[in-house]
Amino acid sequence: MIRKLFVVAVTFSLLFSAILTTVGGEAVDEEDVSLREEIDSDYPFKDEYPSVEQLYGWYDELVEENPDITEKIHLGESWEGRDIWTIKISDDVEEEQDEPSVLINGNLHSREWSTNQVASYYLWRLVNDYGSNETITWLVNNRQIYVAPMVNPDGYIYDGNGDRSQAEGWRKNRNDSTPTDSVGVDLNRNWDIDWENANDDPESYTYRGEAPFSEYETQHLKDFILSKGIDSYQDIHSHYGTLLIPWAYTSDASPHDDLYRDLAGDMTSMTSYLGDDDEQYSYGQAEEEIGYSASGGSIDWVYEKTGAISLCYELYTPDTGMAGFYPDEEYIMDINLDVYDSLVYQARIADLDMGDGDEDLHPPSPYIVYGNFNDDEGDPLTNTNLTLENLDTGETLSSRTDQNGYYEFNFGNFVDNGYEIDDYFSIRAEDHSHNFTIDDSWGQRLDMNDPGYHQFTLDAEGEGTVEIDGEEITGLPYEQGYMDGDEVGLKAVPDEDWEFDGWTGDHQSEEEEITITMDGNKDITANFEPEEHTLTVDTVGKGEVEITPNKDEYENGSEVDLTAVAEEDWEFVEWTGDHESEEEEITITMDENKTITAVFEEERDTPGFVLAVLVLAVVISAVVYYKKEG
Ligand SMILES: [Zn+2]
Repeated sequence: MIRKLFVVAVTFSLLFSAILTTVGGEAVDEEDVSLREEIDSDYPFKDEYPSVEQLYGWYDELVEENPDITEKIHLGESWEGRDIWTIKISDDVEEEQDEPSVLINGNLHSREWSTNQVASYYLWRLVNDYGSNETITWLVNNRQIYVAPMVNPDGYIYDGNGDRSQAEGWRKNRNDSTPTDSVGVDLNRNWDIDWENANDDPESYTYRGEAPFSEYETQHLKDFILSKGIDSYQDIHSHYGTLLIPWAYTSDASPHDDLYRDLAGDMTSMTSYLGDDDEQYSYGQAEEEIGYSASGGSIDWVYEKTGAISLCYELYTPDTGMAGFYPDEEYIMDINLDVYDSLVYQARIADLDMGDGDEDLHPPSPYIVYGNFNDDEGDPLTNTNLTLENLDTGETLSSRTDQNGYYEFNFGNFVDNGYEIDDYFSIRAEDHSHNFTIDDSWGQRLDMNDPGYHQFTLDAEGEGTVEIDGEEITGLPYEQGYMDGDEVGLKAVPDEDWEFDGWTGDHQSEEEEITITMDGNKDITANFEPEEHTLTVDTVGKGEVEITPNKDEYENGSEVDLTAVAEEDWEFVEWTGDHESEEEEITITMDENKTITAVFEEERDTPGFVLAVLVLAVVISAVVYYKKEG
């Protein structure tokens, strides 16, 4: 049975545009620079790269000024004994809530200065926009977001500590206890994922370390991720202008490759290159995007070991080579804003849990259906009940719209019977109802105010096929969802020796080609019957024809006996027309319409007649003769 719903084609770009328009509170228009400057005027690092001391001082201010939604959490100490912090942003911030959690970190690699900027700006916006921007308010209320802009402070300080004149391209941490005199371990080669294939040369700037998680910095991150059950992870790097998805250690596709590509496509569609909206980040695996695979990396480990969404931004910066790690300060805000909306989006969809990488885990659990519910004027219907029902199992879930008319259902909450990808669902709210199926991605938007969706069911009786919008349908009955007002063109095509006998059900017609307007559920049957033929029998002269059987129409191939019966003094001569014969009794096979004529002639007694004529002629001749002689 085919079950498809055209509504799933609602592209996620709808969602993006919705988010993009709401994220700013006021839209951040590229041309409206003054507005952007006004919005960002309080961001402390818009003109400069912070030192670790400045950054940490700002953490303290932020938490002090926003105690209700921020908390400073100690991840641990670096190799050189520096503190590594993450800032938690959430409502009820000091409680562990049953909300999806997100971790974003910068500067795993010391020289990638744009990464602490992007993370700090994101943190600043979340805190700053809480209460004034609806999307951010929702996010803070419904997520636990952890931002750690600086997870390799030793390396960052060694590499200039925000002073571009002092930068020298240091990438690793500052572990000075390696097997050679060479200092440092690459913190993105030290995770326990295909670590054995990472670089074992301590002299190399991609040295993997002495063992998986040999480094304090990676240990702290790992421990934190596991202890918090992080659902969505972002490890920010620079400067390829791409969004990396697992796997990075191999070019093989991960079990959730399709899903990751959907998701990364969605996220990067919200990006720009230095504010140029015509240019967007690319996405893909490391091999295809940056030209090589890398073992021992963070996102692969997080994805494989925890099932979290796990992504790595390689930020786009204006320069290539070493200069690309330290963009001129004038580009700081462009780079921050290029990916900001997409990071908000990543937190938005942190419900998504891809399990443990099990290939059979489709549909992904949980699947999310979300959308808005507005009244006829377009104003949000708040605090309105919605019910989701799995029509195959009968299990239901309830939800309510929030103050923006937004609702969402997490299919992971179907616990009694679970759900299957070919199950059929219904969402109901007040007098609105939508039936839908899910797809193999992670979710779909379903605005309750959209025109209704109607089910179209088509079946056939007899032998023939139906074309829908020009395409022959195999496998009846056929079911499909259509939006209200959609037109569906149907054409009945009988098999050979069969003919069309009309549409029945919710549309009745004798026409072979019809167009249905979907203004409700439709259940329509195309009826075919064996082809029938008419038999027309005429007579010439006096006589009649016995027809057995005698009917108006005959099924193709049926046999009919005809007997010609002449009246008295008449006789049968022959059959003419579509059957020619001189036999009085014939059998014809009805393979087409036939017209047959029986020809009768008056019977004539030839000898008597001739004699009578001769006698008459003799008598007349005699009379004439005697009159002449007499
Ligand atoms: Zn990096």
